[in-house]
Amino acid sequence: MENLIEIKGVRHAYTTASGPLPVLDGLELAVPEGGFVAVVGPSGCGKSTLTRLIAGLMKPDEGEVWLHGARVTGPRATVGMAFQNPVLLEWRSILKNVMLPLEIVPTKSSRAEQEARARYLLDLVGLAGFEDKKPSELSGGMRQRASLCRALVHKPEVLILDEPFGALDAFTREDLWQTMHKVKQEEPFTGVLITHDLRESIFLADQVVVLSGRPARTQYVLDVPQTGPRDLDHLYTTEAAEMLAILRHQIEIAQGRAPADEVSA
Ligand code: ADP
Ligand code: MG
Repeated sequence: MENLIEIKGVRHAYTTASGPLPVLDGLELAVPEGGFVAVVGPSGCGKSTLTRLIAGLMKPDEGEVWLHGARVTGPRATVGMAFQNPVLLEWRSILKNVMLPLEIVPTKSSRAEQEARARYLLDLVGLAGFEDKKPSELSGGMRQRASLCRALVHKPEVLILDEPFGALDAFTREDLWQTMHKVKQEEPFTGVLITHDLRESIFLADQVVVLSGRPARTQYVLDVPQTGPRDLDHLYTTEAAEMLAILRHQIEIAQGRAPADEVSA
């Protein structure tokens, strides 16, 4: 299978007042077309930096970022992004917020087609009937659903989700996970999900990449079987418990709380 996203030997340091801050050092990531990779790692290790590289919002000091067989040199509309704090414009309706990217990067479709697309997406995520509301009239989970629609409105090849459910309560979060499965079926994309929720990572992704502490390199890759936890009950199976134990241990290594050689076998 062709890799839609490929990151090879990426190194990056930020320039700060106290000198260079190495953030990524030896990062490797490959996501096949239609794949969904979750990236987990200690706070501050460079996960959001990784998303900015894939989105073409910045260039690495060294190494390569490839998207669909071409070097990434700048931002493009084929990458959709959603973040922990959905930045929705309060003076626009939910529908108009979802349609915003179509105004920024115009498409050939007519205004009516664009509106139909936005309405379809809002319906898909369970927001039918809320099109004319303002963001402040919606709950946090609903705002996150709207933000997801906005990220999808251009039919992106790549969807980047940077801790999108991190600020939601556990029940709302689980609802959003199920919505994500529905969205992935109806609107196929190649996805990168940054998360600090290990259950979320094995529920949604087909591969989980653990990054080391800063500067981050790829420390461990776990393949989640296709038969893996795809409904909530599956998160309580022995198979899921084993995957979570492996990931938890890898996170402890990344945080420097467990010695790396313990699991080198
Ligand atoms: P994560 O998303 O894993 O928490 P980030 O990629 O946001 O990590 O940041 C990695 C490190 O780089 C952090 O220590 C952060 O403070 C620092 N950092 C992020 N952006 C910048 C920037 N623009 N300039 C300087 N330092 C930054
Ligand atoms: Mg981050």
